[in-house]
Amino acid sequence: MFTAFLIKYAEIGVKGKNRYLFENALVQQIKYALKKCDGEFAVRKTDGRIYVDAVSEFDYEETVAALQKVFGISGICPMVYVEDEGFEKLGKTVVDYIGKVYPDRHKTFKVAARRARKNYPLNSMEMNMELGGLILDAYPEMRVDVHKPDIMLNVEVRDKIYIYSEIIPGPGGMPVGTGGKAMLLLSGGIDSPVAGWMIAKRGVKIDAVYFHAPPYTSERAKQKVVDLAKKVAAYTGPIYLHVINFTDIQLYIYDKCPHDELTIIMRRYMMRIAEHIARETECLGLITGESIGQVASQTMHSLMATNEVCEMPVYRPLIGFDKMEIVDISERIDTYETSIQPYEDCCTIFVAKHPVTKPNLNIIRKHEHNLEEKIEELVQKALDEDEVIIVR
Ligand code: ATP
Ligand code: MG
Repeated sequence: MFTAFLIKYAEIGVKGKNRYLFENALVQQIKYALKKCDGEFAVRKTDGRIYVDAVSEFDYEETVAALQKVFGISGICPMVYVEDEGFEKLGKTVVDYIGKVYPDRHKTFKVAARRARKNYPLNSMEMNMELGGLILDAYPEMRVDVHKPDIMLNVEVRDKIYIYSEIIPGPGGMPVGTGGKAMLLLSGGIDSPVAGWMIAKRGVKIDAVYFHAPPYTSERAKQKVVDLAKKVAAYTGPIYLHVINFTDIQLYIYDKCPHDELTIIMRRYMMRIAEHIARETECLGLITGESIGQVASQTMHSLMATNEVCEMPVYRPLIGFDKMEIVDISERIDTYETSIQPYEDCCTIFVAKHPVTKPNLNIIRKHEHNLEEKIEELVQKALDEDEVIIVR
């Protein structure tokens, strides 16, 4: 029955004279998202609004699901367009609309008519009254409530007449591409995909880096990270995933440094390498899935130690979240099932029985001196062998 969608956007509506940039980015993202759907669509910006018109048959469920992944959309209103063929015809259409969309009629409603075209024979008050009356006649179980109606029936007289009443929630946020780019440290865990999703939701384009340690971590573990990147890319558009072979660096640290400091020193090298790639790819920051106190490497002391090696801002959107809250989001964005697949990650293999929880920076720096001889060469080699996978 529906042939179009009115796209509601919240925050980008308030961006002053840059508003058009945000709207154009949103139109771009919507077009990109709809490419994957069956059917053809036209996306248009008219009267400070964005409409998606279906210009062929289309799959309603699939289309709504795709739009629900476009950041910047706060609501999706499925619409019916009708030609203006007189008020009587409109009345029939509206009654028919209610009949089809609300099979359970024990609901309150309000008609909200609007005329963009003032030459329509009835004014909006009259339209509200007349249409409301027709609905009550047709469905005696229904009742009018002008303050808190279950159904707000919008009828807008424009080039055609637009009828809509449902608002399907969108993901909110801002269109990807309006906020620069950041480098996500993406592991196979639950947290980092959620962290990337959260920053992307603010309009930021995402690239990612994964530290792989073959043969200690398997090809399957790497595939899991690619799969996770794909889930995130459903929201963000293509992600350039850098796979860095971290094995030699890890073994070298394992060889030269106290094992209880291994994780911290390893994390410091991950951050250094990530920042290096971030700089080369014009990213403006790093993103991690850290949350205070979750594990030994995420105490305030440990975070200070890993943060120290970075010059770029490190965004940690989950920093104050409990695990359960993170799991909730990961279920909602559909990364959870992939994240809990049981493939080893490079941190778990070299992890000490009793990792330090309060690393002393001076001691960490001192132990990193043990690496002087070969570490630069190993880091360079890892960077040279960076494998870039474009994940869509
Ligand atoms: P996650 O669930 O994201 O794996 P975690 O709770 O396992 O997080 P850590 O292993 O301490 O936490 O890692 C902290 C953060 O460091 C991760 O959220 C991620 O951003 C980054 N990270 C850890 N391991 C890797 C890796 N192998 N490749 C890329 N980034 C990593
Ligand atoms: Mg992890």
